[in-house]
Amino acid sequence: MSSNPEPNRTPAAGSRIPAFSGPDQPEMALIDACVHCGFCLPTCPTYVLWNEEMDTPRGRVYLMKAGLEGRAAMTPTFVSHFDACLGCMACMTACPSGVQYGPLIERTRAQIERHYERPPGERLFRSLLFAILPYPARLRLAMAPLVLLGPILRALDRSGALNLLPHRLRSMIAVAPQPSVASLLSGGVPEHTAATGPSRLKVAVLTGCVQRLAFAGVNKATVDVLAAEGCTVEAPSAQGCCGALPLHAGNIDQARELARHNIDVFERARVDRIVVNAAGCGSSMKEYGELFHDDPAWADRARAFSANVRDVSELLMELGEPRAPRHPIKARVVYHDACHLAHAQGVRAEPRALLAAIPGIEVLTPAESEICCGSAGIYNLVEPEPAEQLGERKARHIAALKPDVIAAANPGCILQIAAAGRRLGHDWKIVHPIELIDHSIKGAEGI
Ligand code: SF4
Ligand code: SF4
Repeated sequence: MSSNPEPNRTPAAGSRIPAFSGPDQPEMALIDACVHCGFCLPTCPTYVLWNEEMDTPRGRVYLMKAGLEGRAAMTPTFVSHFDACLGCMACMTACPSGVQYGPLIERTRAQIERHYERPPGERLFRSLLFAILPYPARLRLAMAPLVLLGPILRALDRSGALNLLPHRLRSMIAVAPQPSVASLLSGGVPEHTAATGPSRLKVAVLTGCVQRLAFAGVNKATVDVLAAEGCTVEAPSAQGCCGALPLHAGNIDQARELARHNIDVFERARVDRIVVNAAGCGSSMKEYGELFHDDPAWADRARAFSANVRDVSELLMELGEPRAPRHPIKARVVYHDACHLAHAQGVRAEPRALLAAIPGIEVLTPAESEICCGSAGIYNLVEPEPAEQLGERKARHIAALKPDVIAAANPGCILQIAAAGRRLGHDWKIVHPIELIDHSIKGAEGI
């Protein structure tokens, strides 16, 4: 996919071969909810970048309809408009008609992955991503060289030397996480953590794939804060990937397989809530009901599972009055809305309220907070040019607020904003909001 699509691209006119066939097609009833008003356009990152109708939510919904009606074929041009979509769901927030763009783009991408033959290099690259990223044991091996190479690559990135590399490779290096030996070798958080004082709730935490290896501190902070607030915390060791990356990229069968495994594992934990600290994972787990809606064997279990999923900020607000006192942290904190938390889950007020409750913290929101930072799952790996433009746009808005710390509730956003910041000369401290809450509860020095 080119990052700067040529103007006036249209589906293959008059084609008799339908783009979509078989199971998992986008639903016409959802498509027909779009009244073509265009209110979604200003919040769509690809419209903001290119001002091109077919790269807007309205244009993509039009293409889906053309695909379903057999007026569009699965051509490279047709596919490129969907590949360019970040799946950020800003259009769902903006849409006054309630168009359910999430299930529409997921089914469209499932059709593309089933029926469209990508060029061999692209196919291989995507296959590698999906053979490694959702499997923590493989990811651990793949990330091991970064322990030594990470600091060198970061220094090269800062110096601009990476600009000599092909764009995709440069982007992969720039957003690569920096794991420590300890985080790669550690077994992660304990399987069982007792509540401090009488237990208010029994919860299970998703430890994630990238999160448990490259952001082990976020999982530890999550467990410590939940326990301090009176939760008995389980972290089942048998859990795997939630399936978010394959689901959002169209590998719907792989996503279902991973989801079935986790439904089984978390059901056995017999908890009141399932807590997630990564926006993309939380949004996909809340969608399991939709993912299995036409599978009689799993529909009820998936719906029950999704109904119990909470982002950690939602859960803390649900608990009510904090039990653990907060110590002051004096800092200007820019809170970045991760799209899969703000747009896909509607969680905006909770993390801000929790941060604002820490004495000394000033919570700031950057301009264009509704526009994606360009991370978007694997988007910054498969579409590096627009991802980089969006990352730098975000970084400029953040820099204008002169933050001491940036807080973001998604590992992909943290890596993307850090990389964009480095390119603009900023070496920011970027943390998950739960780390600031943990820090405040423990009264630790520094941030
Ligand atoms: S999901 Fe994001 S990029 Fe895709 S159409 Fe909606 S607003 Fe645009
Ligand atoms: S705001 Fe909603 S109804 Fe209006 S064009 Fe966008 S998707 Fe369609």
